[in-house]
Amino acid sequence: MSLVIVRIYHDLLGTYGDQGNAEVLIHRAKARGVDVELVEVTPGMAIPRQGNLYLLGGGEDGPQTASLDLMKEDGGLTAAVQSGATVFAVCAGFQVIGTTLPGHGGKIIDGLGLVDAKTIVNAAPRSVGELVVQPTNKSLPILTGFENHQGLTDIGDGVTPLGQVLSGVGNGFNKTEGVWQGNVIGTYMHGPGLARNPELADAILESALGTKLTSFTDPFAQALANERRSTLIR
Ligand code: GLN
Repeated sequence: MSLVIVRIYHDLLGTYGDQGNAEVLIHRAKARGVDVELVEVTPGMAIPRQGNLYLLGGGEDGPQTASLDLMKEDGGLTAAVQSGATVFAVCAGFQVIGTTLPGHGGKIIDGLGLVDAKTIVNAAPRSVGELVVQPTNKSLPILTGFENHQGLTDIGDGVTPLGQVLSGVGNGFNKTEGVWQGNVIGTYMHGPGLARNPELADAILESALGTKLTSFTDPFAQALANERRSTLIR
């Protein structure tokens, strides 16, 4: 089995170490004997269309809008999703894959439209702190992450969230957190999120590979995930 992971613009979209999600995925895929290639896409480089798994991280408002402009012009990510690729997008990444979001000066602009999710900014204070989530996918344990965002994201009626907020803000609408629409997954969980939730990393790998994985436990990764869960779930 082989897997091509495409990490898009991590210099622009890499706050809170979201680029580390790639390392977690590579480690866990290799542990199952999967042959993994990581393609690092920098601004100005074409986004390959034949990847299996595309990663986007968080970023400040300026780099976020710049990344969106580049991705719209390139078209590669949209084409890859139309061909069935999996996307895991965090925070600013989650906002840009949605339908609309605030751009320069707060003006609402079109996102990539890969998921039905509209981001707005209102008078609410910035959402900063630990996030605890009951995942929609019942085979996953409680998920944790760190959130830091001004935007709030309203996912469409009938669109499946990644989970329900047990503590923290998440999307900021109806206690939902993130989105899981087809093979496109969005979340507000930094950490990096997949280091804190190895089971979610495996679910994303299974989506990208189109097959179930054999079980694998990395004791060090599991200890980190467990420590965060036991500290936050009271
Ligand atoms: N700039 C976006 C916001 O504040 C995303 C922030 C982030 O990625 N951490 O909502």
